[in-house]
Amino acid sequence: MLSSLGKGIASASVGALLKHRGLKVSMLKFDPYINVDPGTMNPYQHGEVFVTEDGAETDLDLGHYERFVEINLSRYNNVTAGQIYSAVIEKERRGDYLGKTVQVIPHITEEIQERIKKVARKDKAQVVITEIGGTVGDIESLPFLEAIRQFRLRHGKQNTLFIHLTLLPYIPSSGELKTKPTQHSVGKLREIGIQPDLILCRTQIPLTKEAKSKISLFCNIEEKDVIQAIDVKNIYEVPLRFEKEGLTDNILRKLNLSFPKKNLGKWSRWVRKANNLKKEVKIAIVGKYIKMKDAYKSLNEALTHAGMANNVKVNSLWLEAEEIEKTPGEYLSSSKGILVPGGFGMRGIEGKIMAVRFARENKIPFLGICLGMQCAVIEFARNVANLKEANSTEFDPRTPHPVIDLLPEQRKTKIKGGTMRLGNYPCRLQINSFSYRAYKKRVIRERHRHRYEFNNKYREVLKKAGLRIAGIFPDKDLVEIIEIPSHPWFVATQFHPEFQSRPLLCHPLFRDFIRAAMKQ
Ligand code: GLN
Repeated sequence: MLSSLGKGIASASVGALLKHRGLKVSMLKFDPYINVDPGTMNPYQHGEVFVTEDGAETDLDLGHYERFVEINLSRYNNVTAGQIYSAVIEKERRGDYLGKTVQVIPHITEEIQERIKKVARKDKAQVVITEIGGTVGDIESLPFLEAIRQFRLRHGKQNTLFIHLTLLPYIPSSGELKTKPTQHSVGKLREIGIQPDLILCRTQIPLTKEAKSKISLFCNIEEKDVIQAIDVKNIYEVPLRFEKEGLTDNILRKLNLSFPKKNLGKWSRWVRKANNLKKEVKIAIVGKYIKMKDAYKSLNEALTHAGMANNVKVNSLWLEAEEIEKTPGEYLSSSKGILVPGGFGMRGIEGKIMAVRFARENKIPFLGICLGMQCAVIEFARNVANLKEANSTEFDPRTPHPVIDLLPEQRKTKIKGGTMRLGNYPCRLQINSFSYRAYKKRVIRERHRHRYEFNNKYREVLKKAGLRIAGIFPDKDLVEIIEIPSHPWFVATQFHPEFQSRPLLCHPLFRDFIRAAMKQ
């Protein structure tokens, strides 16, 4: 109903619960904006860009889906209005519509329905959970809602289910939960022919009997189908709460499926433990979109998972790189670990490089990710290998020491689109490195999203100065991981390990980073 209401977590939770019952589940997110993907959007606008194994730049909700449902998704699992429209326009240009007038209904809505079926086919799914981004009443999301209305008409009531998530504002002075916004948004849905089967009510306080019966009456839905979605401090608690509300059985009954109850033991033990961590460890994260926490969603989750694996609560200290430039020590000295995440553009670079230096010189465990790795290489080149003014050509095209640079083949093209290294690449680890000790295998696969690379011309000089090349992409001999062996724990990766971390299967690098931080 509103953005940021938690549709992503709610969808992911439903997915997790159905999968747990034994169904083959897949997920699909429809985003009603015209951008073809969020890859070109500013993190302030959109939050994190989640990268799938096959290299699609997708909405951050796909990250929730992967973490909750414990599946790997692909480019087919996130579809934007931009993709729909461009597919339809392409077909029109090809003459596929045989001279017909091409219209939102039926052509755009057909294309939308096709995408749902495509996910079902491709992922061999028994259930596809389709989340429609935006808010009921938006002009932009109308074609998507119309498409799902048609979908039900074609595929029948027993094969489709409409779940509507709404917000029940709480007015403390009167102690009341307001059902009016729910009544209105359901009214809007019914105007376009959609009667929700289930209403999930996001609420701060337990759903009152009164609110429930009001929603039932005004929204034309049985009381048992009005489900409380109460605020929780730990997002991983949401599936457990839904299960308690009987949501899974309710959904299965409506879909005419019978999958017996199963205990959620592992997941609930994890949540219970996570909610009762006593010890804390402070980790500084030096980035650029710090005020926009959504920009680092997967990173934040990976830290939480890693904390759990070490029985400690990670207390993240988010620092704006530009702000710490003058006196990094003042901000960083209380942290047990320092992390420099990925990013694009010049702003804050020097602050990040200072943070790396502080970690290196003070022997504070360090994890650098993508841009964070590039900053670590620049810092090492400048201050250890004595290559003055070393830089990435992204920030200083005329640097005398381009330790981070584009590959020669990338230089040929002038356009930015399509020049990034995206998605999974194999990486061969050096035995006895911090990374090998974490992964415990020689070849790993991790997800990438960057344009610039470690410049191999500087490999020998930097190695001589004490840098370890701990991982390479063998096909092209590209440096994927650097380490400083003389440091307690200093690892920086060209890829983004955070995308693969899951609550019950925490990422080994994050786990060892936090472990090293605790030893401080
Ligand atoms: N800006 C850097 C590059 O394009 C790093 C990108 C990132 O951190 N994701 O190579």
